[in-house]
Parts: sequence; C-alpha cells; structure tokens
Amino acid sequence: MLVSIILLIINIYTRLLSKHMISIVIPIYNEEENLQNLYTRLANAAPSWKEDYEIVLIDDGSRDSSLTMMRVMAEKDTHVRVIKLSRNFGHQPAISAGIQEAKGDAIIIMDGDLQDPPEELYRFLDKWREGYEVVYAIRTKRKEGFFKKIAYSSFYRIMAAISDIEIPLDSGDFCVMDRKVVNVLVHDMPEQIRFIRGMRAYAGFKQIGVTYERAERAAGEVKYTLKKLIQLALDGLFGFSSFPLRLSTYLGITIAIPSLIVGVFFLIHRLFGFKVFGHTPEETPGLASLAVGMFFLGGVMLTMLGIIGEYISRIYIEVKKRPFFVIDEIIEKK
Ligand code: UDP
Ligand code: MG
Repeated sequence: MLVSIILLIINIYTRLLSKHMISIVIPIYNEEENLQNLYTRLANAAPSWKEDYEIVLIDDGSRDSSLTMMRVMAEKDTHVRVIKLSRNFGHQPAISAGIQEAKGDAIIIMDGDLQDPPEELYRFLDKWREGYEVVYAIRTKRKEGFFKKIAYSSFYRIMAAISDIEIPLDSGDFCVMDRKVVNVLVHDMPEQIRFIRGMRAYAGFKQIGVTYERAERAAGEVKYTLKKLIQLALDGLFGFSSFPLRLSTYLGITIAIPSLIVGVFFLIHRLFGFKVFGHTPEETPGLASLAVGMFFLGGVMLTMLGIIGEYISRIYIEVKKRPFFVIDEIIEKK
C-alpha cells in the first residue's frame, strides 16, 4: 500500500517535472461498440508513461451514439478532447484534423477499433524519448481475411517498387510523431489528398520501425469499405509516384520498336516478293494480325488515357483548394 502510494507520488512528480505532453489522435466513425473499451484501456495504460497526455477523438460524422458517448467522456475527463467534423470526411482527413488540433510534444495516431493495442504504446514512446522523431508500427501478423492480406502485401510491394520516396513495408498510420514532424505535415504540406503514411515518410527526420501484432477489430463492422480502401491505395500510388505516367513512354517504345522491325520486314517481303512460310505477298493479306494489333493498341491507349485521367482528377482536386475537413465543434472541459 505504502509502496504504491510512494510510486504514485513519484509518477505525478516526474510528470510535473517533464512538462511534456503526449497527444493520442484517434479518428472515430461509428465506433459505439469500441469507445468505452478504448477509453478504459487507454486510461489504464497512460499512468505508466512519464508525460501528461490528452486523448484527441475526432468524430468523423458518426451516425450512431459515438458522439454522445464522447461528449460524456469529455465532460468527465479533462484529458479527453473531441473534435467534431461537420460530416464524414474519411479516415485520412480525420487524422489530419486530429494532428492539427493536437497540442502534444509527441503525437500518436491510432485506430479506434483497438486493432492498435494501447498497451503497446509505451514501447513506441520509449523510442521517441530516445530521440527518434518518427516511430512507426510494422505489422508482423495480420488477423484479416486471406484476400485482404494478399491485397495489402502486394500493395506495399508495388508501392516500394515504383514510389519516388521510401515508404516502409507493412507500416500503416499507427505511429508516434514528434512535434517537429507534425508541424511539417500540418503547416508545410498543404496537399488536399492526404496519404499520411506517405507524407510521414516524405517528411524525413530520424525514423524507426517497431514491430507489433495487429489485433482483430474488437467489435463492429469495418468502416473502410472496399471502395474507400481502393481509393486510399490509388491515392498512395498516384500521389507518390509518377511511374504510371512514364509507363506509356515505356510501353510506347516497347511496342514501336518491334512494330517497326515487322513493318520493314513486310515492306521488303512485298518489294522483293519472296515467300514467307511458303506464301507469296498476294496470299498473305494479314487481316487477323491487323485486328489483333489494333485492339491491343486500342486497349493500351485507353489504359494510358485512364492513367492520365487519374492524375488530372487529382490535379483538379488540388487546385480547387477546398478544405479537406471542416470542424464543426470542439468539445473539451477546461
Ligand atoms: N474511420 C473514420 N472515417 C471513415 C472510416 C474509418 O474515421 O470514413 C476510422 C474508424 O472509426 C477507425 C479507423 O478509421 O477508427 C480505421 O477504420 P477501420 O478499422 O474500418 O479500417 P481498417 O482497420 O480496415 O483499416
Ligand atoms: Mg480497423
């Protein structure tokens, strides 16, 4: 008893001395089944940290009782602040709102479905205290369906192969970032299409990966629909690589050179009238090869147009400069 009181006093004392603060940024979209559990597990883990902390919950336009629950939390606990967005803007914009409003010296980003366990956070924070400015999580095991696992793993490998910057394999948004890095993301990277894990890699600084086992979603439905997931993947690919644009050049050259050789061959064939596979030029009208070639090239050209379209639609979004999230209300008890 006495020992635990002394420990508690030491803990409070070191916190007062350190004056550092940690912000835990969590986007929330219809997570009523997880919120209470999330809060309890965080509140239990927090006393083992040396610093003071705030929990920044972003309500991304929830339609269930999440917001009501968060209001109660903010009312009861001054550590909790709630940023209510004006509608559902999506995971990445919600995180962007959270890191913009976070006040901490270190900012943690994690999911609200307890796939990123709060009990692991101390390991990440230790690395930050050692002086690393970005401590990102690398998933060792994924407890997700076969298809999703394959999709994720191939996405990260394609990204690594073609992206202009080095985005660590199998690392999501779960991370600790130093204030310095967050300032770069918030103030110096005004892009509308936010691909946080790419932007974090782009920012640089001293980065390190820490492995962890990604848990299953504790409760409730997945909030990332397949469409949103594909959108995220495309944002990553097109936002951090211009390889797809160059692809048309490569393909063009690869198709043009053999075509030229074949063309010259047939020209000579016609001019000199020698036999190919036992046929004279008059016997080889070559309709089939023409059709195949035409459809093939048509397909290639449409694909390339589509790729250019992807970039143009992104340029369009960027030049409009609309806010990528709108804050309706900040709920906190001072
Ligand atoms: N989320 C959000 N807005 C959305 C979709 C998801 O804020 O439009 C939140 C969600 O509440 C959760 C996190 O983002 O805290 C990750 O979502 P989810 O678990 O559905 O995605 P996954 O684990 O499949 O990546
Ligand atoms: Mg999840």
